[in-house]
Amino acid sequence: MVKNIMKITKIKYNGNPKLFARKYIENYGLTRAFDIFKFAKELGIEVLWTERLRTTDSKVAWGQLRYKNKTQPQIILSDEIVYENSIRFTLAHEIAHYLIDEKGTEDIAWKIKFMFDKKEAKYNTFAINLLIPNEDEYADNFSKMTISQLATHYQVPITMIELYNKWNGYKYKKQKGEMK
Ligand SMILES: [Zn+2]
Repeated sequence: MVKNIMKITKIKYNGNPKLFARKYIENYGLTRAFDIFKFAKELGIEVLWTERLRTTDSKVAWGQLRYKNKTQPQIILSDEIVYENSIRFTLAHEIAHYLIDEKGTEDIAWKIKFMFDKKEAKYNTFAINLLIPNEDEYADNFSKMTISQLATHYQVPITMIELYNKWNGYKYKKQKGEMK
């Protein structure tokens, strides 16, 4: 096995997940739709897939952060995640756990409630801001695109665009078939 060469250095968490994401964006020149798998690899994280991921209390899980031999960080992703954009987000979320406080996780499928779970907010904030790396560009796109176009453009789940808009004060005019 090729030894992992760490190209990205961990920065000490500064207590603000949005600014924390910004540091990685600036330091490593991350742009829209960047390769999040490569980002994980360059952080020294092994990304593995499993057919079926469950929490200890048997809930469907999509992602997990754990440590092999107590030192090697591994992110486990579930084959049950259907959409490509959800895979990117789940990986970014687990990376957030690793960078922010390193605690192992067993994250339930966020489709259910995890996106809006207060305990998960800082990890989601980091993930969202990492995957939408340019705020000015977003503001410009917001005025021109529908919510599903934004999700496609940034390769993120629609739910994530909804959260990003909510947290950043972007208000969508109601459009037929776009919002519930
Ligand atoms: Zn989590």
